Amino acid sequence: MDANITIIGAGVVGLAIAERLSAEHKDVFLIEKHLTFGQETSSRNSEVIHAGIYYTKDSLKSRLCVEGKWLLYDYCKKYNVPYNNCGKLIVATSEEEIAIIEGIRQTAIRNGVDDLLLIGREQIGELEPNIFALKALFSPSTGIIDSHSLMKQFETNAINNSCQIVYGSEVTGISKIKGGYKISLLDSDKNQYEFTSGIVINSSGLTSDKVSEMVGINDDSLKILFCKGEYFRLNPPKNRLIKRLVYPVPHQNMEGIGIHVTIDMGGGVKLGPDVKYLESNIYDYKLTASKQEAFYISAKKFLPFLEFDDLSPEMAGIRPKIQKPGEPLRDFYIMEETNRGYPGFINLIGMESPGLTSSIAIAKYVNGLIRDTI
Ligand SMILES: Cc1cc2nc3c(=O)[nH]c(=O)nc-3n(C[C@H](O)[C@H](O)[C@H](O)COP(=O)(O)OP(=O)(O)OC[C@H]3O[C@@H](n4cnc5c(N)ncnc54)[C@H](O)[C@@H]3O)c2cc1C
Repeated sequence: MDANITIIGAGVVGLAIAERLSAEHKDVFLIEKHLTFGQETSSRNSEVIHAGIYYTKDSLKSRLCVEGKWLLYDYCKKYNVPYNNCGKLIVATSEEEIAIIEGIRQTAIRNGVDDLLLIGREQIGELEPNIFALKALFSPSTGIIDSHSLMKQFETNAINNSCQIVYGSEVTGISKIKGGYKISLLDSDKNQYEFTSGIVINSSGLTSDKVSEMVGINDDSLKILFCKGEYFRLNPPKNRLIKRLVYPVPHQNMEGIGIHVTIDMGGGVKLGPDVKYLESNIYDYKLTASKQEAFYISAKKFLPFLEFDDLSPEMAGIRPKIQKPGEPLRDFYIMEETNRGYPGFINLIGMESPGLTSSIAIAKYVNGLIRDTI
């Protein structure tokens, strides 16, 4: 085999896996179609280190998020990756929502997040004097991170571990051969070439269902639906009125977690993302200025100082959802595919939020799958 392990996709998840595996294994390759890392979902998100509050008990999302956040904080300290453990408030703005946040607290406790505090107006006023809430849950372990610096550090460590990172090459075909897989690539000069790899890890984000189909796995329940989320910026100087993350109560089936307020490492504040399944899987990052009214109305409930003109369109990201509209919450799909007849082929599909938070824990989990395979 030309390679021992090949990882497809240099987003935050693929990079974390590359760093981890190259520390233990020889001949690890990371293949990315763009000319550098993090050009898709990993650089179009809220950059929140989630606490792991909302997910279904014992799901991978829950377990990898809770483990991943601590691993991520430790990693940031070790490598000086910028982060801010600023905390988050989930706000109830009506009597009905107070009952909902109590329920969220119970879910969080079942998930091993036992540090949430239910606080009243006085304490809310001390933490965030400019917001409106009757009650709130305060999550002290939530934070924000500079995701570009994180990916850069993963890349640096992977390279130092002798991982071969190949940018500008798209995987166009995969076929099973004795003892591994043959991978076809198209480089940025439109040259085609092939190589072989014992293990293949599909971490290709929005097209991970297509890459899985290349090897022969056709499964309707793993079809990705592009689900767009747009953000609006809170213009200066009002960005200075918020110091933490502020979330409304989430939608019932967690298609998204409500238009929330996130701060970033540069002092910016944004509102969003909203949730819109796209009709087809196209990379549509266009911003919809006409959504400003809906964002304004939604956020005004807990940001009383907000005026319509305080907002400007900022950016959009696309979630790789395997959960169809209206369906219950789906888990990450992380699977070594021996049972389907593809030993040593590891799929990561539906890696939406909290994929950034969980990235180091995901890498550890995938390393465990490989140990079991070899
Ligand atoms: C709006 C939004 C907000 C979010 N907010 C948060 C948050 O606050 N906190 C959090 O924890 N998570 C958040 N997430 C989720 C997080 O961004 C993702 O889980 C994470 O970025 C997924 O990383 P990835 O490496 O799997 O995918 P990607 O970043 O999409 O990387 C996949 C890579 O594979 C490459 N690729 C695809 N096909 C091929 C091919 N055939 N050949 C070669 N390369 C290929 C792509 O070019 C891409 O670089 C959010 C997501 C969205 C959309």
